[in-house]
Amino acid sequence: MRINQNILISSLTTMRLGGPARYVLEIETPADIPDAYGFAATYHLPTFVLGYGANTLGHDEGFNGVIIINRMKGIDITWAGDGAGGDPAAHSVASTVGETATAGPAQIKIMGGEYWDDVVAYACERGLTGIEALSKIPGLAGAAPVQNIGAYGQEIADTLESIEVYDTASGTFRTLTHADLNFSYRKSILNTTEKNRYFVISITLALKKGQMSRPYYRSIEQYISDHNLTDFSPQGIREIVSAIRADKLPDPLDKASSGSFFKNIYLTNEQAELAESKGYPVYRGKDGNKINSGWLIQHAGFSGQLLHGIRVSDKASLVLINESAQSYNDLAKARDEIVGKVYDMYGYWLEQEPVEIV
Ligand SMILES: Cc1cc2nc3c(=O)[nH]c(=O)nc-3n(C[C@H](O)[C@H](O)[C@H](O)COP(=O)(O)OP(=O)(O)OC[C@H]3O[C@@H](n4cnc5c(N)ncnc54)[C@H](O)[C@@H]3O)c2cc1C
Repeated sequence: MRINQNILISSLTTMRLGGPARYVLEIETPADIPDAYGFAATYHLPTFVLGYGANTLGHDEGFNGVIIINRMKGIDITWAGDGAGGDPAAHSVASTVGETATAGPAQIKIMGGEYWDDVVAYACERGLTGIEALSKIPGLAGAAPVQNIGAYGQEIADTLESIEVYDTASGTFRTLTHADLNFSYRKSILNTTEKNRYFVISITLALKKGQMSRPYYRSIEQYISDHNLTDFSPQGIREIVSAIRADKLPDPLDKASSGSFFKNIYLTNEQAELAESKGYPVYRGKDGNKINSGWLIQHAGFSGQLLHGIRVSDKASLVLINESAQSYNDLAKARDEIVGKVYDMYGYWLEQEPVEIV
């Protein structure tokens, strides 16, 4: 375990704000995990588990506690040897371990310190479908199930079988199944009922050979028709999604941002009808009725605006970019202005997506 002291949270998070964390502990083996929590308990300090910091904000005063980061890497693939390519969830996938067999569905165990997009690249290179639309989402694999990452019609809940965790409540290593995690839009037990209880060590996905079925998400279909494309293999979709994202979303290495700053708004059927009667665009998808919060922000006049050093993206209004804000307070002021005006105009409270280190 590597122990670091007084590390600026701004250097650990993609919005690049936040003062010093008293300790940052980097986990290199599973045995380090109880040691890290033991370390925090010895000094009576709170803990916060951090990944790449792409969905996390630091406060100006920093964190008088212990940040714990999963640095364990590795990807293990197990191929089913039957070549059936059927429903992976219904398969017992145990016949061939390693890189040699490539016929049937595959089970992939990924250590939580792997960079998520490397995992997507790994799967696509092997012709495996299930996570190609999640290309280029910044972050570590261990964080992916926390808010059930999703994009362009896929979410990790679609393919996640189980995760290995350290349970801080019992001090034991455990496996949690898909059912245990109670996934929904941007939610799992890891960020709701059991928030801060589990340290994710690894995740296991069930992927199959093949390709996503059509129709794809609107912007993918649009891109395909604009560019006359015919390759819908996992690698082909990965390239399309990467191109769409590169055009629309900031690369956190270039521009400080935590991606979508607000969640979309989900409505009951009754609320959806009311919204439609007022002329608001409601999308009725398999995951429910939603209003795109970006539409509300755009129509409230914020697209492209600079508020307290925070730029509202003119390409994706849900995205806030830290252009010149010096403090969390600047960001909070910008956020509150947006939330207040959207509420006054439309009657919906926007909910912040990134979590805060407190
Ligand atoms: C430009 C940009 C685009 C984005 N696009 C998308 C998108 O399309 N879809 C989407 O869903 N998200 C998107 N995001 C948000 C972000 O990429 C995801 O939430 C990602 O999973 C965050 O990973 P991370 O490692 O940075 O997590 P962090 O921000 O470090 O942590 C996020 C949460 O997970 C917890 N956590 C992290 N690691 C562990 C662990 N090992 N065990 C237990 N808890 C842990 C943290 O405590 C925190 O609560 C985007 C962000 C940016 C900056």
